Amino acid sequence: MIQTVRGVHDILPVETPLWQLLEARALAIFGQYGFAEIRTPLFEKTELFARAVGAATDIVEKEMYTFADRGGDSLSLRPEGTASVVRTFVQQSMHRQLPWKVWYRGPMFRYERPQKGRQRQFHQIGCELFGPAGPLADAELMAMVMRYLTDLGLQASLVLEINSLGCPDCRAPYRDLLIATLRTLVAHLCEDCQNRIERNPLRVLDCKRENCRATLANAPSMLDHLCAGCANHFSSLKTHLNHLGIPYRVNPFMVRGLDYYNRTAFEVTSTGLGAQNAVAAGGRYDGLVAQMGGTSTPAIGFAMGMERLVLLLNRETTLPSSTDVFLATLGERGENAGLLLAEAIRKEGLAVELNLSGGSLKSQMKRADRSKARFALMLGDTEIEKNVVIVKDMTLGQQQEIRWSEAPVFLANLCRVGP
Ligand SMILES: [Zn+2]
Ligand SMILES: [Zn+2]
Repeated sequence: MIQTVRGVHDILPVETPLWQLLEARALAIFGQYGFAEIRTPLFEKTELFARAVGAATDIVEKEMYTFADRGGDSLSLRPEGTASVVRTFVQQSMHRQLPWKVWYRGPMFRYERPQKGRQRQFHQIGCELFGPAGPLADAELMAMVMRYLTDLGLQASLVLEINSLGCPDCRAPYRDLLIATLRTLVAHLCEDCQNRIERNPLRVLDCKRENCRATLANAPSMLDHLCAGCANHFSSLKTHLNHLGIPYRVNPFMVRGLDYYNRTAFEVTSTGLGAQNAVAAGGRYDGLVAQMGGTSTPAIGFAMGMERLVLLLNRETTLPSSTDVFLATLGERGENAGLLLAEAIRKEGLAVELNLSGGSLKSQMKRADRSKARFALMLGDTEIEKNVVIVKDMTLGQQQEIRWSEAPVFLANLCRVGP
C-alpha cells in the first residue's frame, strides 16, 4: 500500500466544507476591501526565495524542497507566498498602477518536523498591499484581518498584537545597543540565542524559552528608540485602531528575522491552540520590492495558516448539512421514477441524495438519518400507482403524501423558508 509522504495530508471530503468556508469568506471580505485574487506558480527559481526570503534563513538553508529540473535549473517549491507576489509585481511593472492589492491561497512546502498544526505541505491565505506608505493602510489591513476572523466566529479567542521594528535609520543604532546588552547577558541565554547575538540579535527577543524571556524582560526596546518618523507612524496606527474600536496589545518582543521588514509588525494570536498560537502574522516590508530589483515601493501584507484556522473552526463551528433531500426508492419502478424525480428536485436548486444501491426501506431510512437531510422521500409501487411521493420531515418526524409533479416546488419552498 502506498501512503502519503510524511507531513503531507489529504483534505478529506468531511473536512473540505471548512476549507471552502475559509476561502469563500476570504473572497467575499477581501473583495470588500478591494483585494483581487492572484494565483502564482507552486514552484519558482530557487534564486527568488534566496533573495526574497534570505539565503541565510532557516527556510532557505534547511527547509525548502529544492531540485534540479531536467534542464539543470535549480527550482524550489514555494515555502511562502510573498516572494512570488513581489516577483509578479516587479515582472508586471505594477508600480505604474498603485495601489496594487492582491490576495492568494494555496499550498506551501517546508521540510520541517511535522507536528499538530504544522505540516510539510501546508496552506496559507495571504494579502499583499503595495503603494501606500502611511499608517492608514496598516490600520485598514488589520481591520480586514479582524473582520475576516470575527466573521468566522473566532473573535472570542483572538488578540491583535502590534509592534514597530523601526526603519534602517533607527534600527542600526538600536541593534548595536541591543548587541551590547545581550553580550552582558550571554551566560543566561539559551544556545540558540547565544548564536544569534551577533548574526540576528532581534530574533533573540523572540525566543520562547522561559529562561530567555525572564533574562530579556528589561532588555532595551525598539519602541524606545524609534526615530521621529517611525514614532509618528506607530502612534498614528494606534490612534486609527482606537477609532476603529479594535482592541490590541503592544508586544515589543514581536520581531521579524529579515532586514527588509520595517515599522509595523502584527500578529493575531489565539488562546484556542496552545503554544503554537499565531493564526495570522504580517508586517510592513517597504524595502523588499527594491531589493528584488523593482522600483522602490512601500508594501504591507500578512499570511494566515489555514490548518490552524481549520483546527479552531472545528472547535467552534457546526456546518449545515449539504443534503436537503434523501430519496428512498423501492423496486425497479421506484428506482426509475426516483431517477427522474431527483433531477426535477435538483432543478429547483436543492441537493438530493438518491438511493443508488437498493436495500430495504428500513436500511434506506437509516442512511437518510446519517445524511442529515431535512426531508426523506419514499417512492415505491403504491406511490407510483397514485402519482404521489411520501415526504417525511426528518426534524419533525411528520410525513405526508404529495403529488409528485408538485413535490419539487413544494420542497424548494420549504427549504427556502429554512428549518
Ligand atoms: Zn525610523
Ligand atoms: Zn533563547
